[in-house]
Amino acid sequence: MHQKMLTLASEAGAKIDYIAYCPHGPDDSCECRKPLPGLIHQIEKALNMSAKGCYMVGDSLRDLQAGQAAGLIPALVLTGKGTRTLDKENGLAGVGVFDDLDSFVDYLLLQMHE
Ligand SMILES: [Zn+2]
Repeated sequence: MHQKMLTLASEAGAKIDYIAYCPHGPDDSCECRKPLPGLIHQIEKALNMSAKGCYMVGDSLRDLQAGQAAGLIPALVLTGKGTRTLDKENGLAGVGVFDDLDSFVDYLLLQMHE
């Protein structure tokens, strides 16, 4: 699955530097399962960088919480579970909401050119 994603991204002109995922279950008490920020710290370590100020894009509250815990800027996409997340959480203060990843990327590109 990862190889397929890397190939598709490469064909579209994108470059993915690192893929992180939690292989654990909810009862494993690991540090990398969202809403804990362990995966983000793993990425920071692997890429020797700080992710603070980067965006965390996700469709669930846990995604946004993990990002916020690591100092990232949360962005909710309304694809997947996103619409349900927005309906369920009455106050997603400070969270940017986007129709989909494509809309988020358009927003990001605009920010970069300002
Ligand atoms: Zn884990």
